[in-house]
Amino acid sequence: MKEKRGFGGVLRALSHYFTFFVLVAFVITCCMMLFLNILADSLQISFSGENISLAAKVTFWNVILISLLFTVIDTVRRKWTVDRPVRRISEAAEKMIAGDFDVRIPTTSGLVSDGKFNEIIECINHMAKELSGVETLRTDFIANVSHEMKTPLAVMQNYGTLLQAPDLPEEKRVEYAKAITDASRRLADMMTNILKLNRLENQQIYPKTETYDLGEQLCESLLQFENVWESRGIEIDTDIAEQVLVSADSELLSLVWNNLFSNAFKFTERGGRVTLTLTADGSYATVRVSDTGCGMSPEVGAHIFEKFYQGDSSHATQGNGLGLALVKRVVDIMQGEIGVESTVGVGTTFTVKIRREAHELEETR
Ligand code: ADP
Repeated sequence: MKEKRGFGGVLRALSHYFTFFVLVAFVITCCMMLFLNILADSLQISFSGENISLAAKVTFWNVILISLLFTVIDTVRRKWTVDRPVRRISEAAEKMIAGDFDVRIPTTSGLVSDGKFNEIIECINHMAKELSGVETLRTDFIANVSHEMKTPLAVMQNYGTLLQAPDLPEEKRVEYAKAITDASRRLADMMTNILKLNRLENQQIYPKTETYDLGEQLCESLLQFENVWESRGIEIDTDIAEQVLVSADSELLSLVWNNLFSNAFKFTERGGRVTLTLTADGSYATVRVSDTGCGMSPEVGAHIFEKFYQGDSSHATQGNGLGLALVKRVVDIMQGEIGVESTVGVGTTFTVKIRREAHELEETR
């Protein structure tokens, strides 16, 4: 915080300046006298005491006046080129400390500053922009979590109240208890996803790399949904290349496949088809998960990797919009790529590219 200088402080600063000037003027006057003495000796002329005292006074006061003039000019220059930008920067920093990240510092004109301050100002403006983005994410995150928690909690409260009714038929009791269990499971799933995402984002999860057959992992993941595709008459098509080895964290990657399959089945109507392909292209293993489901518009597609984003509200009760955010984070950690192609009413294809194991590449060359 800037300290205000009182009257005493100003007087003290002036007296410092004054002492300094008098000292400099005294030293220069002495040098001048010495110079005159040497000059007089070498030219064999002599100066009267009066001449010498006049020359000393003129030199002394000239030095004082010229130094004062330059000091005033330099003070004015510093006020414009240093004090002003420094004041703007410290005022902005104080606002940021108080939590205002919308603050932006105007850059100074090149005429009055040497551009170095502009570099600092641009950095601070950038930092403020990033911080305001983080702040918005944080507040949005809290709002989203609270909203997502309210729905299952309301379900649990309502069915809990209904369960208290006396003489409740057995089938109703089972129905209400199941609704409460489902809602609490949803809440627990959401909390697990939030924790996973949080740990992934804070880099608290260090990938445990191992070399394994990606095709086998994909088949195992897909088989977990056997009940779903059988009960809903969804056709499964697979084309999985053999011996595609990847060096990755299998636990993290299984999160990706589970989420992609779960979405494919969730958004595909009875009688539709889900296709899984695995190919090895150059240094990448490419996995494609396609479905003939409802598809999504380009506007929805642009947001699907954001936390809590749900494009299709009709399936809102079956998810919380965290699945693809997790998928994206894992793929980023694996330094892979993910893309989506979708057409409303036709279907969706997610493509994930993961680096293949180096030894395997050597063998295929
Ligand atoms: P959730 O499935 O819980 O809603 P996700 O993060 O997994 O959350 O997906 C976000 C949104 O992306 C979904 O709400 C949906 O609109 C869209 N989406 C994801 N996968 C598909 C798919 N296979 N077909 C159509 N839309 C999809």
